[in-house]
Amino acid sequence: MDIQGTEKLRSEMEGPVLLPGDEGYDEARALWNGMFDKKPAVIAQCKSTRDVVSAVNFARENELLVAVKGGGHNSAGTGSCDDGLMIDLSLMNKVEVDKDTQIVTAQGGALLSEVDAETQKHGLAVSSGIISHTGVGGLTLGGGFGWISRKFGLTIDSLVSAEVVTADGKVVTASESENPDLFWGIRGGGGNFGVVTSFRIKTHKIGNEVFSGVIVKKFEALKEYMRFFRSYVRKMPDEITIWLVVRHAPPLPFIPEEYHGKLVALIPFVYLGEKEKGEELIQPVRDAEETIGDGSGMHPWTAWQQGFDPLVEHGARNYWKSHHIKELSDECIDVIYKFAQSMPSQECEIFVPHMEGAPSRVSSDATAFPHRNTPFVLNIHTRWRDEADDKKALKWAKDFHEETEPFSQGVYVNFLSDEGSARVRQAYTEEVWEKLVEVKRKWDPNNLFKVNQNIDPQSSWRQHDLVH
Ligand SMILES: Cc1cc2nc3c(=O)[nH]c(=O)nc-3n(C[C@H](O)[C@H](O)[C@H](O)COP(=O)(O)OP(=O)(O)OC[C@H]3O[C@@H](n4cnc5c(N)ncnc54)[C@H](O)[C@@H]3O)c2cc1C
Repeated sequence: MDIQGTEKLRSEMEGPVLLPGDEGYDEARALWNGMFDKKPAVIAQCKSTRDVVSAVNFARENELLVAVKGGGHNSAGTGSCDDGLMIDLSLMNKVEVDKDTQIVTAQGGALLSEVDAETQKHGLAVSSGIISHTGVGGLTLGGGFGWISRKFGLTIDSLVSAEVVTADGKVVTASESENPDLFWGIRGGGGNFGVVTSFRIKTHKIGNEVFSGVIVKKFEALKEYMRFFRSYVRKMPDEITIWLVVRHAPPLPFIPEEYHGKLVALIPFVYLGEKEKGEELIQPVRDAEETIGDGSGMHPWTAWQQGFDPLVEHGARNYWKSHHIKELSDECIDVIYKFAQSMPSQECEIFVPHMEGAPSRVSSDATAFPHRNTPFVLNIHTRWRDEADDKKALKWAKDFHEETEPFSQGVYVNFLSDEGSARVRQAYTEEVWEKLVEVKRKWDPNNLFKVNQNIDPQSSWRQHDLVH
């Protein structure tokens, strides 16, 4: 490492530049997924767009590998790298709401909790993810969905513009009217095109409380419940979102003690509207198979958004496999039921979000997020503590994923692990991939930003067909 260069970077930057051994270095390089213990040669803790420009120029001039850390949540560990430069955006977490336009501006390192805190002061919300310590950066650049996206679309569908530091160190705006190709690419193409220093996102009026909760069923009733779930939720208006999580029951007050630590089916839901109407829509869910716990009621939005946080705190070992599911056929349900019974730890989850609604009404080539007609996602959240269990945990996830493959169609880029370039393409279609490559060639021809689900500027879909 060229220390001379590091000193220059330090003198240019307002935020700290950390080297191995410096105070704060280990904290800054830590990622949500404890599987990764990467040690960057330099960490640039940026405080401003100018700092980001200095860091990007430093990386390019020194031919360093660059990783960009927003919230550090990506399960593939792409927020850091070994021996290169980590651009840590965690100090760039300011969030401001313009009450008149109802647009929120969030810096590139803000967390969802920080966006919720500001927007909720005005009864507003961004359609985003369900774990509040996730970063706005990675989530938005991959697409972004959560409890209210069936009503309001993906996070990218509400993105108005972004400020981007490009590979050549320029600061540009990406929007429908300025650099529209870049704007298209950052809505689903991840961090491939530059460092986003701020996002301007349209918010939606939801008030401060929502009718929401978790209904609990016995695991033994899972197959029957899923047969009801697969058709019922698809008939529902966009105002209600009903998902399914199979896991060992956490010790929550509304779950009878005898079920704590036992496999159960959790059915979380959110309704945007009057409670009475929500009760009417959710009653058939309560009635389908025996309900053994019910935590539904009016909940503050911020509390609801943080409700699942304790189950996925930072630091545990995680391995995610995912795909979009065409149809929850009886055969697919059988596979889910089978693998649920051999979960390698109490912290694993099988997560089945229902996706249809506003996202599906946006055309598949309008953004770089083409798989918009998927009814369900199947997320295999493998989570454990002991390194000695790695092999067992990974095998469970891979086997489960392979057996559900016949029911799948594509994948959400933000749920990919490190699965190779052919798999990255499955997050896209041929048309979208070719356009992504074109945009990449224009904005990052030398692939400076490659620590991500990479769009190699030299690649093409056809070449992939031949190679794989
Ligand atoms: C527990 C958990 C729950 C999740 N829930 C949801 C959910 O409900 N909905 C959903 O859509 N997704 C969800 N995700 C997936 C999540 O969207 C991705 O993991 C996302 O990458 C996290 O973003 P981050 O900024 O925290 O991650 P990081 O690891 O910091 O970043 C991931 C990648 O994004 C890029 N990046 C991040 N910030 C920037 C930036 N400002 N500029 C340029 N590039 C940047 C970089 O390439 C980086 O490698 C969840 C993930 C986890 C682990």
